[in-house]
Amino acid sequence: MTQDEVIGEVLIPADVLANRVRELAADISRDYADKDVILIGVLKGAVFFVADLMRALDIECEIDFMAVASYGSAMKSSGVVRVLKDLDATIEGRHVLIIEDIVDSGLTLQYLLRNLNARDPASLEVCALLIKPARQKVDLKLRYVGFEIPDRFVIGYGLDHDERYRSLPYVAAIEG
Ligand code: 5GP
Repeated sequence: MTQDEVIGEVLIPADVLANRVRELAADISRDYADKDVILIGVLKGAVFFVADLMRALDIECEIDFMAVASYGSAMKSSGVVRVLKDLDATIEGRHVLIIEDIVDSGLTLQYLLRNLNARDPASLEVCALLIKPARQKVDLKLRYVGFEIPDRFVIGYGLDHDERYRSLPYVAAIEG
């Protein structure tokens, strides 16, 4: 299949993404003013989002990354999660904000929340760029959400299909 055959309808154009990232950054800057906050980007999909978000914040903060893999097929998470890369930082007593690209069933995030909560942070919240409400299997408290999207597999702005299409500046559905 050629690239043109894979990229389907554009769900969120680049300018809409950029505006929403700035709004989220303004909310986070207000809520975390005077707090020692560490952003945790979830690799690899959240890389573009966390980079843009962090640059739009007007508070000082640290950044760290975690990589997790969910057993199951690429398009369906099983909820059984394996840590591929753990944090470098210690988060005990710190304000932690997980930056996720997309919450689908919510099972991956549920695992991450449990894992990080066990390390006794001062607070633990989530900022997810995209959520698919129709697919959510677990009720999670998401403090910041960029967009609610329909039940479609999406690519772009960090999200891949077989490791491709991450650098598209917009979020699109895949064809078929
Ligand atoms: P969950 O555990 O919430 O079902 O799945 C979360 C993970 O599945 C995301 O972090 C992402 O890696 C992957 N995922 C879920 N939906 C999509 C999608 O529409 N597009 C892409 N590229 N990845 C997705």
